[in-house]
Amino acid sequence: MFETAFLDVPALRAVQGVVRLPGSKSISNRVLLLAALCQGRTVVHDLLDSDDTLVMLQALRQLGCDVTIEGTRAVVDGIGGRASRPRQAELFLGNAGTAMRPLAAALAVLGGDYTLCGVPRMHERPIGDLVDALHSLGCDVRYAGNPGYPPLRIGEPQFRLERPIAVRGDVSSQFLTALLMALPLAAGGQDVVIDVTGELISKPYIDITLQLMARFDVRVRRDGWRRFTIARGSTYRSPSEIHVEADASSASYFIAAAALSADAEGSNGLKIEGVGADSIQGDVRFIEAARLMGAHIDSGPNWLHARRGAWPLKAIDLDCNHIPDAAMTLAVMALYADGPSTLRNIASWRVKETDRITALATELRKLGAQVDEGADFLRVTPPANAAAWRAASIRTYDDHRMAMCGALAAFNPAKLPVRIQEPRCVGKTFPDYFETLFATAMPAAVVPVICIDGPTASGKGTLAAAVARRLGYHYLDSGALYRLTGLAARARKLEPDAAHEEALAELARRLPARFGEQGKVWLDGHDVTTAIRTEAAGNDASRLSALPAVRQALLDLQHHAARLPGLVADGRDMGTVIFPAAPLKIYLTADAAERAQRRYSQLVSKGISATISSLRADLEKRDARDRNRAVAPLEAAPDALLLDNSARSIDDTVEQVLTWWQARQPF
Ligand code: C5P
Repeated sequence: MFETAFLDVPALRAVQGVVRLPGSKSISNRVLLLAALCQGRTVVHDLLDSDDTLVMLQALRQLGCDVTIEGTRAVVDGIGGRASRPRQAELFLGNAGTAMRPLAAALAVLGGDYTLCGVPRMHERPIGDLVDALHSLGCDVRYAGNPGYPPLRIGEPQFRLERPIAVRGDVSSQFLTALLMALPLAAGGQDVVIDVTGELISKPYIDITLQLMARFDVRVRRDGWRRFTIARGSTYRSPSEIHVEADASSASYFIAAAALSADAEGSNGLKIEGVGADSIQGDVRFIEAARLMGAHIDSGPNWLHARRGAWPLKAIDLDCNHIPDAAMTLAVMALYADGPSTLRNIASWRVKETDRITALATELRKLGAQVDEGADFLRVTPPANAAAWRAASIRTYDDHRMAMCGALAAFNPAKLPVRIQEPRCVGKTFPDYFETLFATAMPAAVVPVICIDGPTASGKGTLAAAVARRLGYHYLDSGALYRLTGLAARARKLEPDAAHEEALAELARRLPARFGEQGKVWLDGHDVTTAIRTEAAGNDASRLSALPAVRQALLDLQHHAARLPGLVADGRDMGTVIFPAAPLKIYLTADAAERAQRRYSQLVSKGISATISSLRADLEKRDARDRNRAVAPLEAAPDALLLDNSARSIDDTVEQVLTWWQARQPF
């Protein structure tokens, strides 16, 4: 997840390949419980891995359910029809409402001796309406703490099912969901009827419950949203395999990106895995709207495939009440349409994470669109032509969907980047949204690179890593590649000199290295994170880096480091040889005494012993060799900015570079 203050998304040309979207939480926990309640084995695919699904799994295991998990696949052996389930258990359900409510109802109907508790906050979340409903059908449920709240104590039921069971629908739709999922366990001899009192909220979620129950072979009769009837003899049966869908609204961004992608001819488009056109989520009807605008979408079980169809997109005038979340994506697609588009009946947008009508109107105007807003509609007139597009810094209002939508402006024909403020807000539903986008996106122009070159121990590494962190960019420590080559050579008893140039180059070309989080490096499977930092490794690197064939061999590796959204590269020839077109080049220096002191502190902090005087002699020797070698000598690129940081703090140096970078941005 990007934790930066902003993220600059470079102009994008197309998306291609495959994206896999994360599973939906509400579907995951429903499916787990249904799989546990039925007879037989169910293989659950694409299960979400989260705190709430974990407590559900743990509880089901305590109830005698065999569950094995491999990655995102779960194999559940249901307890339905089994005579010998544990009749006594104390279940801890954390703070998971999607576990507490349905489990309370299911166990109250099954009967036994169970205690259900959670974290202190869970004991403050009301459950009285559900318990009242369970009492009315003859269940034995008692409050073990405060009346109206968990923890609950559950005993054996004495069913009274002749009269309809009343449940309130206006507090939480989870109470109705819990009853619906539990009651087939009691519907052996007679129909069971549930009447909803009060206006039922969150109807799409009840729809998901009903659809999932149907997949487990229990079809509930629904009369409006007031009465639900479970027919006598209803029994859960395993569908054998079931896929947990991804959040359908999350798919909308990738459908849109594919519809905006250039190269319809040669491109294979984008396959989106995790949700299909037969989805049980209301927002999947976004597909129809996207098709109206010209997107080309194929679908199958649990997958969609999208690519550009009509271009420019076709303007639409659409009632979007049925797809409130995903329709935001249409508003951004409207920027690429052949005329003004109107999205109607979207008053609910005003009371979401932010007032989404005003927020989108404000931000789309920044991009060059003309936008009219009303109490319940939005009309977007796209920028008149490529020149009318503006590079904008999009405010996200702590609304994940504003951030995800905003990124779609990066497909603009003017090839302008777009800045997304506070990108971390995507964490609410899709923490890896930007990573997923960048993994499939192709940039419209070269990826931005900041080069930081300079002599040994001038602080390049620290500076480059800090700048990369602040911008959310990748970081290339090119010196590490030479150091790794040196280490690999030593391991193979190769002296890093001209006599072995070809063998060294071959080694560099196939560098058996692996890079991990936080600067961790492995060579030939060994962790060499510390080993490459020694002075000996630095000297070997300096020697073999003077060999043209070695430098040539490392070229591809360095070029490939320039990936979306951008790169900060440190070394000796980043600005002169490797990325000569980079928009910002820094030549970082500090006087020799200062550099020797810094290198000393750095080594000592890593537990490597050294003396300042020998370090200074070494680094001066190394600089001389780097400066005087025939290929890619250490020198400032003609367009590099010189930065002497002898007397500057690291923070100060970082700020200076960010200021220079910002001055080059169009925002
Ligand atoms: O920057 P670092 O000290 O890790 O680099 C080790 C050696 O690798 C340098 O002294 C230099 O000789 C070589 N090097 C290079 N070109 C780069 C980076 C490092 O020649 N881009």
